[in-house]
Amino acid sequence: MESRLRVSELMRRLDRLSSEERSYLMSQVKNSDTGPELMLRRVLWARGERFLTPSGYKRRYKQHLVGRPDVIFPGARLAVFVDGCFWHGCPLKCKGEPGSNQDFWMKKIETNQQRDREVNRQLTELGWQVKRYWEHQIRRVDELHKIVTELIETVSRLRSERIYTVSKFKEV
Ligand SMILES: [Zn+2]
Repeated sequence: MESRLRVSELMRRLDRLSSEERSYLMSQVKNSDTGPELMLRRVLWARGERFLTPSGYKRRYKQHLVGRPDVIFPGARLAVFVDGCFWHGCPLKCKGEPGSNQDFWMKKIETNQQRDREVNRQLTELGWQVKRYWEHQIRRVDELHKIVTELIETVSRLRSERIYTVSKFKEV
């Protein structure tokens, strides 16, 4: 509810801005840590799984990671994204459809989706596995725990596979 209000209020404000101001504001929104990412990290941490977030992986993996994943597991080479339902156009449309300036928002969301696909492609090429979850999945407590269980299993499988295929000194 709260974030729904935030999105509509933001859209009202953005409609009044020039395109430059608009893209600046949107980049600010996109780059700040928002609720669902934090929820995923908190549950992973509580269940004993260790990982890196953008502030932690920046230096070492900067050249190797595109798209700024929300969580990475370097040993497993797994990158995880939590996609906001509005900005990435979730199929359930749980944040509603843009009310005003519809063409602009639809185009923006399409561009985000294209970029998501491109980021997936590039990360895969770099030898990373990519998992994406919707914000609405993370916000449901039981689904969040299922996702975390799935991630923990995937990480442990990928780690053990890598022990046999990659020299320890060539992690990056
Ligand atoms: Zn959704």
